[in-house]
Amino acid sequence: MDTCIFCKIVKGEIPCYKIYENKDVLAFLDIENDVPGHTLIIPKKHLTDLDSCDEKTYQKVLSTAKKLTKHFLFLGFDGVNLVSNCKEASGQIVQHFHIHLFPRKTNDEAKLTMQPAKQKETLETVAKKLRLED
Ligand code: AMP
Ligand code: ZN
Repeated sequence: MDTCIFCKIVKGEIPCYKIYENKDVLAFLDIENDVPGHTLIIPKKHLTDLDSCDEKTYQKVLSTAKKLTKHFLFLGFDGVNLVSNCKEASGQIVQHFHIHLFPRKTNDEAKLTMQPAKQKETLETVAKKLRLED
């Protein structure tokens, strides 16, 4: 897409700090520079979000996430968080599917937090609403 910032990175029109690349996937440092090594993994083709991502591409992105997780652990990190925001309500800002990878160190004090629910339903009620049969 012409206006998509991540497509521009793929095309080399905007610079990035590349961590890994193959035919279908690119991984580069998030510009936020918060958690050291915060990396974004994206498919090279434009897909808006997890919902619109085809299964094959998703597998390629996820397999890169696993590869980089192993790599970061090998480099001496102690853990990794994977996060993907799907649609604006979840906090997705860039409308090109991506997975955030946060390399972690023991006691690094970085926190991924969710606000506690204001109105608590029982887990049974929630499960009844959300259960999906195959
Ligand atoms: P999300 O809220 O999941 O859509 O996250 C989008 C992420 O893209 C944010 O963490 C931004 O810091 C990051 N970002 C936006 N523009 C760039 C850029 N040019 N290079 C690297 N990261 C970027
Ligand atoms: Zn794009």
